[in-house]
Amino acid sequence: MSDQTTRRGALARAARGAAALALGGSAFYLVRKADGQIVWNVDSARCINSRLGVTNVEACNLCTTECVVPLSAVRAVNEYSKCGRCYICPAYFNITSAVDEKGLPSEKLCPRDAIERKPIGDIDPDDPANNFYEYIIDEVKCDGCGKCVMACKEPLGLGSIVLRVRHSLCVDCNRCAISTACPKDAILQVPIEKAFDHVQLGSHD
Ligand code: SF4
Ligand code: SF4
Ligand code: SF4
Repeated sequence: MSDQTTRRGALARAARGAAALALGGSAFYLVRKADGQIVWNVDSARCINSRLGVTNVEACNLCTTECVVPLSAVRAVNEYSKCGRCYICPAYFNITSAVDEKGLPSEKLCPRDAIERKPIGDIDPDDPANNFYEYIIDEVKCDGCGKCVMACKEPLGLGSIVLRVRHSLCVDCNRCAISTACPKDAILQVPIEKAFDHVQLGSHD
């Protein structure tokens, strides 16, 4: 992504944010957060980045560019119960990059370096591939661009990384700007208890 594109995107988001606040009672007004509320949610079965059968295409980044919140209220989340703890994770590594002296891809996939790779337990130095690794997403850095989500699904991954609207960040626009832009109608309103926002971070527990 060019600097110009980045700057233009930031300006567009800032303008949308200002519009959202200014429109008050109209299309974008903000609603109060409360228990039992209806929230915006990513339907992974519909999202281009996570739906099966969509491969070898650029990840959809509209969840990043269209949200009225700076950086976006959408994050990638690793659902650890599904993660294979792979030695070479296609969401962490750019698996098309040159192989380094350790036999690993030399480049990372995430443009924001938002994924940390940590071995689980001790590594046998003579056989590091015979070990499990955890992949932890730093939600401060992640902007929900979807690249890792697109990479972490069959046939190479297990689909453990998905996009989620983080309700601690979302300002509950009356009409979600991402849902308006989404080509797959994958941003839907659901009761908060069904919004899958409970995924634990930073742990395989
Ligand atoms: S805009 Fe829709 S298809 Fe694109 S990343 Fe968001 S949910 Fe997925
Ligand atoms: S969604 Fe984008 S920014 Fe977030 S961890 Fe994945 S590749 Fe990195
Ligand atoms: S409803 Fe939430 S996710 Fe949608 S545009 Fe507004 S802040 Fe972003």
